[in-house]
Amino acid sequence: MRGEGGVSLFLKCISSGSKGNAYVLQGKDEILLLECGKPFIEVKKAIDWQILKIKGCLLTHGHLDHSKNTKDFLKAGIPVFTNEETKQTIGDIPGAQFYSVSEFKAVQIGGFKCIPFYVPHNGTPCYAWLIEHLEMGRLLFATDFEYIPYNFQKQQIQHFLIEANYQEQFIDKDIPNYEHKLLGHASFETCIGAIKANQSPNLRSVIMCHLGAGSSAGNYFINEMQKVTGRNINVDCAAPGLIVEVNKEPF
Ligand SMILES: [Zn+2]
Ligand SMILES: [Zn+2]
Repeated sequence: MRGEGGVSLFLKCISSGSKGNAYVLQGKDEILLLECGKPFIEVKKAIDWQILKIKGCLLTHGHLDHSKNTKDFLKAGIPVFTNEETKQTIGDIPGAQFYSVSEFKAVQIGGFKCIPFYVPHNGTPCYAWLIEHLEMGRLLFATDFEYIPYNFQKQQIQHFLIEANYQEQFIDKDIPNYEHKLLGHASFETCIGAIKANQSPNLRSVIMCHLGAGSSAGNYFINEMQKVTGRNINVDCAAPGLIVEVNKEPF
């Protein structure tokens, strides 16, 4: 908790990975949702039913583990923001607040300034989002990508919510079609490379997400990532129930 006059923002993970993706950025008076991959009821529980505080939801792409419940979110009156291709794939609902945002165009959602850009995802149009908030600083949310095509070192990013899908030694090669499942996804090495390329003195936290199903890699990932970031950076893996304070300043 923050001290006098300070306001805390929290990143909550409802679910991460191929079984469904849903995250919450929660401040005192406003909430930004990330992804529609879990039923809205689970979001409501995660935010303690403070539905009126929800300002909107960012959606990366149309794969069902991210977008399955989009129409239910829209029907609940939640504004959803994504790229045009994803909007068309899902289909609009009359009267719903379903918005396509142009690449690099900033959209203001409550106190959150959100800028999308495309990341390569094996041919599926997929947005990553740079999210800015007065108390949080900058958070880069990138999932389901082969690599990040831009460098953000100048932007001095405080927080990363970033895919670390697999690593060679943890791949279960008995799973049929396992090579296909890795296409378009960030390996742990790719994730490490992205953190190194974008590291700045402002870095506060690295939350790795979308870990491959059945992967026992979490602890290994955390230890190895911590070697890159140093010990005073908060490194974790997104799992249901994870709550991380994401503030601009360390204290
Ligand atoms: Zn996915
Ligand atoms: Zn995907």
